[in-house]
Amino acid sequence: MDNKTTPGAGEWSGVIESYSSFLPVNRQTPVITLMEGNTPLVRARNLEKKLGCPARLYLKWEGMNPTGSFKDRGMTLAVSKAIEEGARGFVCASTGNTSASAAAYAARSGYPCYVLIPENAVAMGKLAQSLMYGATVINVRGNFDQALQMVLDIVESRPVTLVNSLNPYRLEGQKTSSFEICDILGEAPHTLFIPVGNAGNITAYWNGFREYRSAGLSSRLPRMCGFQAAGASPIVQGERVENPETVATAIRIGNPASWKSAVDAARDSGGSISTVTDQEILEAYHLLASQEGVFVEAASSASVAGLSKTLQENPGAFKEGDDVVCVLTGNGLKDLQLAIDNCPQPVTIGADISELEKVMELR
Ligand SMILES: *Cc1c(COP(=O)(O)O)cnc(C)c1O
Repeated sequence: MDNKTTPGAGEWSGVIESYSSFLPVNRQTPVITLMEGNTPLVRARNLEKKLGCPARLYLKWEGMNPTGSFKDRGMTLAVSKAIEEGARGFVCASTGNTSASAAAYAARSGYPCYVLIPENAVAMGKLAQSLMYGATVINVRGNFDQALQMVLDIVESRPVTLVNSLNPYRLEGQKTSSFEICDILGEAPHTLFIPVGNAGNITAYWNGFREYRSAGLSSRLPRMCGFQAAGASPIVQGERVENPETVATAIRIGNPASWKSAVDAARDSGGSISTVTDQEILEAYHLLASQEGVFVEAASSASVAGLSKTLQENPGAFKEGDDVVCVLTGNGLKDLQLAIDNCPQPVTIGADISELEKVMELR
């Protein structure tokens, strides 16, 4: 397959078939796909102006994946490889997008999926997805770490495969987003901004950019700039956070699984891992929707919050002609309560044209 070719309408066939030469698959691998990947790379001219960004700014809109987050890129590979290796079901511990994605791909595979969630700690949209896709959702009276331990124990004695990000195929699939960015831009960007939770995704992107350059399909490597929420920033603080707290639930992680490789990616690329506050995250969340029409999960906007902070601290951070990409990891529709709670409420009027005119004059 020619990896430099951007597909035309109807030509895309999912990340495994599109990038098979970069993935641990062979002709026998049964490909379980929902046509994930090939997500929009949107130029954000309004944000460039608003933030005073001299570089070209692009948004990698991963919320456009089939279950609404980048997790689908890794899940297609994890599930396909598990079936190839004889799995008879899937299990994960998750408070969010991993469970939604696992449940969807399991449904397509025809095998059962068991999702362990810490009791009552899951956003409504993500819970609804897992239930609709037919997963067995199990509330655990305990926290995430305890649920994960149970999952690790059960895969020892049952023919079910763990699809948490400890599954190495997850990161392999996730790196395909770097390939798509390079294919569209014709080169790797100068700088990549990305939210960091368990730190698997920043690791995957860095692997992808390096593999593409080694293959001669790009000639530079981006600076990798990762952002944790201030209340859940173990990497920045250099120690585990016992009770991580942030409005950005998808990055509320106190002890990241890919800690070391994320630190390596930031260091080796000349980038950094820093923090943004919940207020900065919510500002970026609103800016993305109101300025660009892109509605993301709160966690996703940590990348744009990080860009905004970088430009405030150092207006000369980028040159004209640079390409800067902000990764937007998940879809805003996952958590409607957060959106509604953080917006002005609708105005109510009588069915009367003069009342309508009054409202429209005020705007
Ligand atoms: C999983 C997730 C993240 C965090 O990614 P890591 O690989 O854990 O760093 C960020 N945003 C969203 C929407 C996610 O689902």
